[in-house]
Amino acid sequence: LAIVVPCFNEQIALPHTLDVLFRVLSEMVGRGEIAPESYPYFVDDGSADLTWPHIVSGHERNKSVRGLKLARNFGHQNALLAGLMGVMDRCDAAISIDADLQQDPAAIPEFVAQFRRGIDVVLGVRKDRESDGWFKRCSAQLFYLLMRAMGVPLIANHADYRLLSRRALKHLTLYGETNLFLRAICTQLGFKTSVVCFDVKERAYGSTHYTLGRMLKLALTGIVSTSVVPLRMVALIGFAIFALSLLMASYVMYRTLVVGDTVPGWASTTLPIYFIGGVQLLCLGVIGEYVGQTISEVKRRP
Ligand code: UDP
Ligand code: MG
Repeated sequence: LAIVVPCFNEQIALPHTLDVLFRVLSEMVGRGEIAPESYPYFVDDGSADLTWPHIVSGHERNKSVRGLKLARNFGHQNALLAGLMGVMDRCDAAISIDADLQQDPAAIPEFVAQFRRGIDVVLGVRKDRESDGWFKRCSAQLFYLLMRAMGVPLIANHADYRLLSRRALKHLTLYGETNLFLRAICTQLGFKTSVVCFDVKERAYGSTHYTLGRMLKLALTGIVSTSVVPLRMVALIGFAIFALSLLMASYVMYRTLVVGDTVPGWASTTLPIYFIGGVQLLCLGVIGEYVGQTISEVKRRP
């Protein structure tokens, strides 16, 4: 078992995290649930503090600790992916967990139990959001609402606490995209998938890195990388407005040519506005459909 931990400026949390993960791993080794070679794998996502020295000294104290240092800050999702790719050939299964251990590590044995029952993808789902402030709670709800409306396949309240088997990890490499939204893709791999419920604590050490800006960016990546619904919406709006513009155009022609009670210049001004506006939006919609197709072809997903 490899435990992948992305870390960005986590010097305050790391010593505690190392201790806890060790305890969990050695207890599981003691019970014979995992191999003694199991190890934690820390990914330093370009931290500017003592995160990397902490990982190095962790390795010096216990050689099973491994680390990966990224050249700069690439963001949580990329750090996580780099970690998963780093352990892929050196494990039977990998669990990803945040460095602050807000996600209860006591659930790790349950992940492994499910894996040993032949399940390739085990998703951690938090039991409640009591430990979150009102802002995070509201924004999370809005996030899932938006994602559902945009047709992104998400399991509610599942973040990046999950187990992937080696098989699933190998399969993940077939997705050659740079903007991977892991939590949507992992449910789409097509392997047997199950869920483990866990408790969430408040962050005990350090503070969150997910500012509003980063959360919005994550949501945007999630939508754009997994769904063409927004493009389809443009196409639909374009078509509707084009139909409407045809109606308006015929009304203008009728008032001018049949009734003849309009001011000179009115028809020649309004007709092009309605008609050309409608045609433009229709054309944008058509282009959108092609762009959508292009995106899915370019991704070359398996
Ligand atoms: N993280 C990272 N790179 C970043 C930001 C965050 O690797 O650019 C890591 C961070 O160290 C932590 C995890 O991603 O292990 C989740 O971040 P955080 O706990 O700050 O987010 P929250 O739990 O508040 O959403
Ligand atoms: Mg956290």
